[in-house]
Amino acid sequence: MKYKLYSLLLIIAFTVVWCGWAMPAHAEKIRVVTTLTDLADFARAVGGDLVDVRSLATGVEDTHGVPMKPSFVPVMNKADLLILVGFDCEHAFLPALLEASKNPRIQVSKPGYVDCSKGIIPRDVPKSTDHSEGDVHPYGNPHYVLDPVLAKTAIANIYNALVAFAPEHKAEFTRNRDVYLAELNAKIAEWEKAVKPLKGTKFVSYHEHWPYFAARFGLNYFGTIEVKPGIDPSARYIQELATAMKAEHVAIVVREPQFPEKVPKRIAEQTGATMITLPIMPGGVPHTETYIKMMDYIIHTTVAAIQSRK
Ligand SMILES: [Zn+2]
Repeated sequence: MKYKLYSLLLIIAFTVVWCGWAMPAHAEKIRVVTTLTDLADFARAVGGDLVDVRSLATGVEDTHGVPMKPSFVPVMNKADLLILVGFDCEHAFLPALLEASKNPRIQVSKPGYVDCSKGIIPRDVPKSTDHSEGDVHPYGNPHYVLDPVLAKTAIANIYNALVAFAPEHKAEFTRNRDVYLAELNAKIAEWEKAVKPLKGTKFVSYHEHWPYFAARFGLNYFGTIEVKPGIDPSARYIQELATAMKAEHVAIVVREPQFPEKVPKRIAEQTGATMITLPIMPGGVPHTETYIKMMDYIIHTTVAAIQSRK
């Protein structure tokens, strides 16, 4: 009797698991894959209950080098939409994944290939687009989402792609987008007020993540610890940077969590600047699961660092 009960339970368990795989609960949902977690947050905000969103990155990775996992290929294979940053931000991992996905819907120039940089004017476009020099920003700086006003362009591109894919749900997407934009606009006003003590503050960061952020909030982006995007510094370069930072009273060293702490920490100690660790996408540090929470964290951490120096 006991065995029979166990067998029955086992059969039920297998059936549940098997059906769960064969017929996912979200089978009818639009399957969205994003490269980074900020875009996933926007897609969830606009898509609501109609989308099943997966992000390749978890938030702690280098935006230019999300380590590939075998699980990415089946997810990409089933995707209806692939949402990406663009400006070749994902050059190191996305082209190979796209090929391996064998999914014609999301290939470059297909409607399922959603490039969120459409409509963004890139900063810092280099003269050469040659990857062999190691520059990971060949078409200009791709970190525009860290400016919450430019993030709205990414949100618009995601909205347009969802409407094009499922026009019958346009009213719901529009409602969701408007609710999210209202929340974001209120937050932008709050952030602009909060950064007032930061105006003109000079800072450096490890990687060139912050030109759009600095321009939006009136900070002075003094330079980067990397020689150029993707190229680590030599000892001599670090020394020259530290000397220049001291002379110019640079107050803050930003360390992004995907880079080791050692060099930024040493530079901060040498120059008397304050080192802070800031996420560059949601999930980069604890309590930053959404884009708005992440921007809250970035603004408040930076303001607190400046105030602690006074
Ligand atoms: Zn970059």
